[in-house]
Amino acid sequence: MHPDVLIVGAGVAGLATADALARRGARVLLLEAGTQIGAEASSQNAGMVRRLGDDPIERALARRTHEALLDLDADPDFADAPVSRRSGALLLLGHEPMRLHDAAAHLHALGVAIKRLDGPAAIAAAVQSPLLQGCPAKLGWYDAEARVADAHALCRGLLARARRHGATLRTEAPVAALRRDGERIVGVQLADGTALDAGAVVLAAGAWTAGLCASVGLWRPLLPLRRTLLQTERHPGSHPDAPWIWLDDAGLYARPEAGGFLVSACDEALDPPRPGAASRLAPDPRAIALFHAKAQRLFPTLAGVRLRGGWSGLRTFAPDRAPMLGPDAEAPGLHLCAGLGGYGISCGLAAGEVVAASVLDAAPAWLDAPAVAPHRHTLRRFPLLPDGDTSRARLLDVATARARMSKTCTQ
Ligand SMILES: Cc1cc2nc3c(=O)[nH]c(=O)nc-3n(C[C@H](O)[C@H](O)[C@H](O)COP(=O)(O)OP(=O)(O)OC[C@H]3O[C@@H](n4cnc5c(N)ncnc54)[C@H](O)[C@@H]3O)c2cc1C
Repeated sequence: MHPDVLIVGAGVAGLATADALARRGARVLLLEAGTQIGAEASSQNAGMVRRLGDDPIERALARRTHEALLDLDADPDFADAPVSRRSGALLLLGHEPMRLHDAAAHLHALGVAIKRLDGPAAIAAAVQSPLLQGCPAKLGWYDAEARVADAHALCRGLLARARRHGATLRTEAPVAALRRDGERIVGVQLADGTALDAGAVVLAAGAWTAGLCASVGLWRPLLPLRRTLLQTERHPGSHPDAPWIWLDDAGLYARPEAGGFLVSACDEALDPPRPGAASRLAPDPRAIALFHAKAQRLFPTLAGVRLRGGWSGLRTFAPDRAPMLGPDAEAPGLHLCAGLGGYGISCGLAAGEVVAASVLDAAPAWLDAPAVAPHRHTLRRFPLLPDGDTSRARLLDVATARARMSKTCTQ
């Protein structure tokens, strides 16, 4: 088949784009390097669907994705397992109580109710959780309708629906390079040398997207930041219906899971992936120590809790932490659905919708297209949060990151 659109990468971004394109009648071929779909960042996340994000673009995408997730409950292609469930979410602030006021106001304008909780008594009255005992939070924002998603169920359902509308998936089909004819991107070359052409190419290759752009001399600063998730042993404070709780400024979250908690100290470190190597790693002992130190101070109920497992994975960001969605003006024929950072589950369905619209006609009116354009100017340095705490941000020099990326991506 000569597809209308080739999509590189079958994580949540590529699958959401394939689904949205196929449902609008495009002939889609999805190419995945791995043996399975959704096996990289899309299988390494905490599944929290967060609407109360820092960035207005993220919030617009997340609100729309939240609505789309609700629709999936009644969709036969997603009938195998529930894709998401209501959990509620409590965002707490310890040392920066002025954060997220604009975010809550923005969501309110979009019709989403977020409750403001002033001080420990109001927080404890609204949310019953042992995690709050001894937690030094000054202000809370409560989203009673927030959800948790099952990323595997989401990916499987998106593939089923895309296939029902004619999309084709090839696994174990690593793309080695983009193919260019003059200025225009006309297709891809697989690692086995096969050339495939299409009317448009969508790069949804997560942490590997920058390397594929570089194959045609295009620098797109998509920087993979490693983060650790840990699973605690069973804990008496864990209740399956309790909300996930995130101390947003200090960087510590806990989501009830399997009788214990899925937790992260929100560590991040630049770590470009090697081609062909899986991005999932065992947790670094330093990230484990960081979690224990923070838990003692911030969630004393979890002080000394035993861990039963964990992993680390890559969240891939542009320096301004907004995604790259839509056509790349410097490479006609090329579209990106990338840079979904730490919010690909929260925003993926809407991101796919935006990119599908941009391939077929024009970006939707509800999003500021220039703010997510892959070719936009971005920052030369951006704040990295090595230990997840906003008060200890460190500036990462993008040129240095680029040098490290090009060295690693060609190894
Ligand atoms: C520890 C952690 C916690 C997170 N928690 C949350 C959370 O709670 N909520 C939330 O909203 N988000 C969360 N995220 C972020 C979310 O998981 C990501 O934003 C999202 O999964 C990105 O999806 P993607 O499809 O862009 O990338 P990926 O899932 O990485 O998919 C990219 C795909 O492209 C394929 N690929 C790469 N190169 C090639 C090639 N050359 N040829 C063919 N295929 C290729 C890969 O094999 C992969 O399948 C978290 C992420 C991590 C790591």
